[in-house]
Amino acid sequence: MAEVNPFESLQEQLSDAAAYVDVEPGMLDRLQSPERVLETTLSVEMDDGSIETFEAYRSQFNGDRGPYKGGIRYHPQVSRAEVKALSGWMVYKCAAVNIPYGGGKGGIKLDPRQYSDAEIERITRAFATELRPLIGVDKDIPAPDVNTGQREMNWIKDTYETLEDTTEPGVVTGKAPESGGSAGRVEATGRSVMLVVREAFEYFDRDITDATVAVQGYGNAGSVAANLISDLGADVVAVSDSSGAIHDPDGLDTQAVKEFKRETGSVTGYDGATEELSNQELLTMDVDVLVPAALENAIDADLATDVRADIIAEAANGPLTPDADEVLADRNVHVIPDILANAGGVTVSYFEWVQNRQRFSWTEQRVNEELERLITAAFDDLTETYEARDVPNFRTAMYVVAMNRVLSAADEAGVFP
Ligand code: NAD
Repeated sequence: MAEVNPFESLQEQLSDAAAYVDVEPGMLDRLQSPERVLETTLSVEMDDGSIETFEAYRSQFNGDRGPYKGGIRYHPQVSRAEVKALSGWMVYKCAAVNIPYGGGKGGIKLDPRQYSDAEIERITRAFATELRPLIGVDKDIPAPDVNTGQREMNWIKDTYETLEDTTEPGVVTGKAPESGGSAGRVEATGRSVMLVVREAFEYFDRDITDATVAVQGYGNAGSVAANLISDLGADVVAVSDSSGAIHDPDGLDTQAVKEFKRETGSVTGYDGATEELSNQELLTMDVDVLVPAALENAIDADLATDVRADIIAEAANGPLTPDADEVLADRNVHVIPDILANAGGVTVSYFEWVQNRQRFSWTEQRVNEELERLITAAFDDLTETYEARDVPNFRTAMYVVAMNRVLSAADEAGVFP
């Protein structure tokens, strides 16, 4: 597969949407470029006493609608271009679901499986120390992303609070409940994927209980989406992770597969499946819904010609290249874009931040109800714009909604100085 620069993908998506929005060229440049990017080299002592260095980044893309918000990723593919793209997607994701945040993203280039827990803690605290002047409850609020979770967020919070000599749980979200985390946060991304799939079936007047679903990537986002979509009555017939894919035409027991992966580290080898497939085979299966929930650029234009799903719900960020988008739009495959489909994570992060600021916890039921309210409202905004404007696909419709919100805030703020 040809290398696709994710930052260029973001810029292309924004240019596509800008054709349907009243925006000056200078303002479009502003909306397409990060405000600032921290690039740092962390020096960390390993368990054997040696020193290792790590490339790390934090991009603050746009703060017109509120504090920068976005996750921190640990992965060997992390790069400046990837972090910039992911931070830009956060701006438009927060605007799509209408929560008062701008966008940011961070990452450390490393394979966390190569390091002990103590080393990961020192690496995380070293990064948090570099981030401290930039982040803050009203400035920039990190969260988990690929290969980071509650544990890393708790360490970032503790490092920040220790250095600042304060208690400020709202400086990061995605924390464990006892450290100020919210009920429902772990499931939130998969829950919004389920909600948009449910809404799409209603919109197209189709019955979800007849649907078959394939999920690429069985981590936090993918496995929760699979469980909740299966709870709606659909058959999740195939799931995968980096080890490969498993298939059962009668539907997999999504919870049992999750348990199997927790015990063994992968979905392959699960004995309730009828066969094992490659990830490529999973992505081109004849299913009603495909949920890419791994990493960027999973489907390029070539592969898109072979995709047989009717609806794609993007749990991952940027899983389709812009060329793939065009092919799929021509082939009438409806793509529910990442900036809506996986926005549950940042939406419940927002609820966590609100609760931290109020020092008052909501019940899981309240969290899920508020999440459903915001995601279904955003889906309605998307379909309204899709019908009212001559846009080529759902993604452009959602970007038009989001871009107009960011533009209004930028216009109202003016330019300083
Ligand atoms: P995760 O680390 O929990 O899971 C990722 C999964 O993808 C793992 O099972 C891994 O084995 C699998 N994978 C990796 N490469 C693969 C490949 N080539 N083919 C098939 N599977 C592969 O990460 P996550 O938190 O679930 O994030 C997944 C995606 O969802 C990312 O794009 C992330 O940015 C996005 N996302 C996550 C959240 C969240 O709250 N977790 C929120 C918004 C977006």
